[in-house]
Amino acid sequence: MKTYRIAAIPGDGIGTEVVAAGIEVLQAVARREAAFALEVERFDWGGEYYKQHGRMMPENGRDLIRNHDAILFGSAGHPDIPDHVTLWGLRLAICQPFDQYANVRPTRILPGIVSPLRGVTDRELDWVIVRENSEGEYAGVGGRAHRGSPLEVATDVAMFTRAGVERIMRYAFGLARSRPRKLLTVVTKSNAQRHAMVMWDEIAAAVGAEFPDVTWDRMLVDAMTVRMVMRPRTLDTIVATNLHADILSDLAAALAGSLGIAPTANINPERTFPSMFEPIHGSAFDIVGKGIANPVGTFWSSVMMLEHLGERSAAARLMKAVERVTADPRLHTPDLGGSARTRDVTAGVIAAIEGAND
Ligand code: ATP
Repeated sequence: MKTYRIAAIPGDGIGTEVVAAGIEVLQAVARREAAFALEVERFDWGGEYYKQHGRMMPENGRDLIRNHDAILFGSAGHPDIPDHVTLWGLRLAICQPFDQYANVRPTRILPGIVSPLRGVTDRELDWVIVRENSEGEYAGVGGRAHRGSPLEVATDVAMFTRAGVERIMRYAFGLARSRPRKLLTVVTKSNAQRHAMVMWDEIAAAVGAEFPDVTWDRMLVDAMTVRMVMRPRTLDTIVATNLHADILSDLAAALAGSLGIAPTANINPERTFPSMFEPIHGSAFDIVGKGIANPVGTFWSSVMMLEHLGERSAAARLMKAVERVTADPRLHTPDLGGSARTRDVTAGVIAAIEGAND
């Protein structure tokens, strides 16, 4: 029987609560399928580690997880540590060297969940946002000079390479092709940003020619927010830059009912390095330790992990179990307007995994 080695990095805040729940359901689905096993190794990196060691993870951290089959990540963020330290010290310190350049974020309205968009159900809203995850506005290029003086200057340079844009476009067109509607929207801002975004558009057209069966269109990012709210049915697969997709996917998560539900995958398509799966929410220190964190985003991320590992039957079983649970309002956590606890949702999903015959 195949054994997958999973690196679990719970991180900070509710990350520790939802990752513990995620491991429980993953182990339950592995037991139920009886076709593979999961060997989970936990790495306690993050804010507490930083307080003790002055860094978010050990210097050889990446070497410790390089040969795992996948990474399940919780959240990095700590009230006492600046956000750019926690982000660059852990999440980006893994994503970038492991070349996880495709950040994939499905959005769907799960059964039992009410979208803030009136009357919109899963038939009208079923999207996947592909976020360029290695360069663009978050390339880390820039600096500050004359600190503290009135002449201080600070720059963050958005850096786009032809190779980087081509590979994310190819990934997005390929993903769009794999979905029933074969529909891609390329998000851009090439009216105001006349260098990199124009190159982005040109490359989209060139790569699009390789995918004649995919219908695609182009949207300026500002108009895209309007279309997502007013005409959600017209969208399917979406590709955008690091910054644009960061913002659009938070909007998408809100439209799908709660930040607590939304999953994401940081994919290294070439499989040279492990890919990383995480809920999109942060560490939510306002609810930490209360036992009410919604674990569904982590469960859905675990589904994406199983798909990436090629365990389709297990992935489908887990997704079905999650949907059974979201359909039951008694198993909704407070972010969804209910009074269930993380524990109840986890037990409900495990019961659905164990009970389902199909
Ligand atoms: P960070 O600074 O790490 O990004 P944050 O606390 O600023 O984290 P999020 O955690 O992304 O931001 O979410 C904002 C709010 O949404 C939280 O404060 C919390 O109230 C709510 N929330 C987010 N995720 C969940 C969840 N899984 N379950 C319940 N509520 C959640």
